[in-house]
Amino acid sequence: MHNDKDEKLSIRRILSNYAYLLKYSFRIDAVLIIQIFTVLVASGVGHAFMDTIFIRAFINYLSDSNVSFQQTAVLVVVSTLGIAVLMSLERCTESLARPRIIRMTGRMQEEMIQKVSEMDLICYDSDTYYDNFVIAASQLEEIAVMVIMDLARMGSNVAAVLVLSGLITFINPVIAIFPTLGFIINVYTKFRIMKLEYDCDVEKKRIMRRANYSKRVFYQPEYAKEIKLSHIEVPLERQFHQSLDETVSVVKKYGMQISLWAFINYISVYTLLSAYCVPLYLGYMALVVCRIGLGDVAALNNAQSSVRNQLDSLNYCVERVQKAGMFCERFRRFMDYEGKIENAAGITQVPWEHTVLEIKDVSYRYAGSQRDTLRHINMKIKSGEKVALVGENGAGKSTFVKLLMRLYDVTEGSICYGGHDIREFTTKEYRKIFGSVFQDYQLYATTVKENVIMGEGKGDVPEEKKRVEEALRQSGFWERLESLPEGMDTPLTREFAENGVSLSGGEAQKVAIGRLFAKKDEMHIAILDEPSSALDPRAEYELNQNMLHKAGEATVIFISHRLSTTKDADCIYMFENGEIIEQGSHRELMEQNGQYAEMFRCQAKYYQQNQEITV
Ligand code: ATP
Repeated sequence: MHNDKDEKLSIRRILSNYAYLLKYSFRIDAVLIIQIFTVLVASGVGHAFMDTIFIRAFINYLSDSNVSFQQTAVLVVVSTLGIAVLMSLERCTESLARPRIIRMTGRMQEEMIQKVSEMDLICYDSDTYYDNFVIAASQLEEIAVMVIMDLARMGSNVAAVLVLSGLITFINPVIAIFPTLGFIINVYTKFRIMKLEYDCDVEKKRIMRRANYSKRVFYQPEYAKEIKLSHIEVPLERQFHQSLDETVSVVKKYGMQISLWAFINYISVYTLLSAYCVPLYLGYMALVVCRIGLGDVAALNNAQSSVRNQLDSLNYCVERVQKAGMFCERFRRFMDYEGKIENAAGITQVPWEHTVLEIKDVSYRYAGSQRDTLRHINMKIKSGEKVALVGENGAGKSTFVKLLMRLYDVTEGSICYGGHDIREFTTKEYRKIFGSVFQDYQLYATTVKENVIMGEGKGDVPEEKKRVEEALRQSGFWERLESLPEGMDTPLTREFAENGVSLSGGEAQKVAIGRLFAKKDEMHIAILDEPSSALDPRAEYELNQNMLHKAGEATVIFISHRLSTTKDADCIYMFENGEIIEQGSHRELMEQNGQYAEMFRCQAKYYQQNQEITV
């Protein structure tokens, strides 16, 4: 993903970002946007007329003996009603727009979530991904409201300024100098302030991400036990305090500069130009040279102050537009990101049965890593074969299976399925041939059934139930399922349901393995990354038997550290430092008397010793 950490954006890019988000919002709810625009622009023009023409006419009526009291009263009533109607229309539109804006931003969030599923796994290894996503997601609602409301207000401001400028030019054009000069100073100083605030915000967010991680660890249940039983809170608290200290110094650093620019802005724009210069000039024109009347003084003073307010508001919006434009950059990068792997299109008909998976001289290096995690791996896995991958921690087994499922692309060599390089397939179609349980599988806060079906239900409830039942029987969860109050409709975890159940590590693993058996008829290759690590020996034995004998025609590739489970595999591959150092059946490897045999004997001795102790 594109790295934008310290990049400065040009005004053009900011505007283009803004247009991007506006277009995006327009696509979701065009009516809402047109509605807001129309009402706010009409209201700006209305206010401009009221602020000047009405005041001028009112004073002129009062000082004109030919105008009756009734005429003056009608003017006051009509103007007051006009203002009241405009203000309520504006209020109503804003209130009516709120729920629609919420719905619109909700849709945007949905599209962002959808986008996350299109991100290549490699993005998750980069902190830029988190910076872009976290900032874009956390600011989305604010940005969308900014874009719509501010642009409408800007339209209203511009319309009002045009009307007011026409009136000022008509009465006395010199007055136009004051708000214009004020506007220029305002734009410049506010731009500086906004830029500093943005930089400060980005720096703060980046630092606070670390603090937020530490905070999250403290309140999430999966960390609770370890936190209570260890002192992991010490480095985490240290990290939290460090982040806080860094945030404080960032805020201090920017705070001084922001205050200075705010002072310059206030002095020049408000105090000097508007509060003193304009009244002095108007007083001089009316009283000393007698070129304008009292009605003109009031109208001009109102008009210039109105123009200043409108320009101020315009400026405020421009400033927010710039801010939104910068945040929008992240949203845009995120939404425009095209997953190279996830979006890959190609052959959609993935061969199914009797297909060989061939790994040809594959090497893989993680982005940013100094060395290859996998080196020159060669393998040929026949359809229906049961393959075990063994080896020490960090040898590269999990990385290897991720390559098989095309979660990452190989750095060198190729993986072929049915004679095609897997990069030739549409990724989503290719992945359908797999069923998998990862080492770090997750259970979700929904029912047991949903945790097994994983959103792949076809709507036929009885058939689905049967499938889940069968799958959980084979994964060894059946007895526990029978004890659950609502069977497979029991919610897992108590996060959202009082009657939810918390499962033990082994039970949870059995539910996760159930996913594989539920998909049995639709998958061609089952991948299990340490499927039995949390199971007791009996459950492990049963799982093993089910996996090898009841997984149907499927090819099974499983990673295990317990060599007792790998014994029955057709072929065992021993990984070391990213290479395959031995391969063959259990018997062949034992005869070779190499690393595998040594590891196996070591584990067997351990089991025997344990048995003796138990006896
Ligand atoms: P274990 O038996 O402990 O599960 P493994 O054989 O499955 O280990 P892998 O998880 O494939 O090993 O890891 C192999 C090496 O790749 C390790 O040194 C690990 O630190 C590194 N590695 C794994 N994931 C990443 C990643 N996302 N980015 C960089 N390096 C990684």
